[in-house]
Amino acid sequence: MEALRARLRAIKLLGGLLSEGERQAAARDPHARRPPRPCGMTVHTGINCPLACAYCYIYDMGFSGAVKPYPLTPIQLAYAIAVNPYVAIGASGTLIAVGSVTEPFLPETRELAVGYMSAIAEHLGNPIQVSTKMPPRELAVNQRVDVLVSITDASGRLEPRAPRPLERLAAGAELMRRGASVTLFVRPVVPGVTDREISRLLSVARDLGYSRVVFGTLRVTERIARRLAAFGVDVTPYVKELHPRRQVPVKYSKAGLVKLARDCGFEVLPSSCASNVTAHGQACALCDWGPCGDVRRLRLDVESDVREYLEWRGYKSVEVYVRGLRIHIRGRVAREDRVFVEQATRLRVLESPR
Ligand code: SF4
Ligand code: SF4
Repeated sequence: MEALRARLRAIKLLGGLLSEGERQAAARDPHARRPPRPCGMTVHTGINCPLACAYCYIYDMGFSGAVKPYPLTPIQLAYAIAVNPYVAIGASGTLIAVGSVTEPFLPETRELAVGYMSAIAEHLGNPIQVSTKMPPRELAVNQRVDVLVSITDASGRLEPRAPRPLERLAAGAELMRRGASVTLFVRPVVPGVTDREISRLLSVARDLGYSRVVFGTLRVTERIARRLAAFGVDVTPYVKELHPRRQVPVKYSKAGLVKLARDCGFEVLPSSCASNVTAHGQACALCDWGPCGDVRRLRLDVESDVREYLEWRGYKSVEVYVRGLRIHIRGRVAREDRVFVEQATRLRVLESPR
């Protein structure tokens, strides 16, 4: 299977660029062990975030406001991803999502973030997306990167330490002019806030050249609900029960926003990963929100590749067949093998008893 051969090549090449100690530190890092999330493999450019957005979940996860650059070098980060058994390496492999638990382009982490993206582009080739409230006006990475410009509403009142929404949009437009793919990421949709001036936000974005939008869901804990209340936002009508640590989604229909965006000429995508897939001219059928992108680009003749991979992993005479956009495997396989096959093919795997 090509994704496996690509992994072995990347491990050899990147491992050769690192000392034994650097290799071991990278192999112990969570990037080498975590399974990808639905949006892809999340890459952390820093620890903590000082922007203190009212709805942010990282402070419930033990993070603080004192940002520090992530401790791996760009080559170590690429190596950690290459050795991760869940991740498929290559241009049509696992989606990479930079910037999930911090702002990647903070002054303290900007250089490292660009270094991480460059190392992934050069040595792994996987499709990269970065989500930001501080888009730089230039992004020198030797691969097309999908930039999600994250905005909750036109006023920015829940993100008082981030650049003003119109500044973010303008910086994203500049990136577009320089050839980047840029998507408007209205996240999270906060009832009573996002819907206030959404028409203005969409029309300014459209006039600046934006053509795709993703609407993201708000998830709250007790503490986030309290912080939002301090900003004058009451989410209690939209949640059944609040929990101290568990995030619960706010039940608020986005249908009105979606209609407005479509009427305004936007392509509305169901999730951030759909934007990454579309920006790279690819396709994915890994979840019920899809399939996304051009489905004709999905390879369905993968049976012998999957069999070859599973046999290499030690499974004996595995029966594999493809029906529709699903790979059926008779028998049970380990989670990391199932996830790897899904990542390498972008098709969901269904196991059934022998
Ligand atoms: S920029 Fe992102 S990580 Fe930082 S506080 Fe805002 S939502 Fe949280
Ligand atoms: S099918 Fe679409 S929404 Fe689902 S994981 Fe793939 S890209 Fe994301």
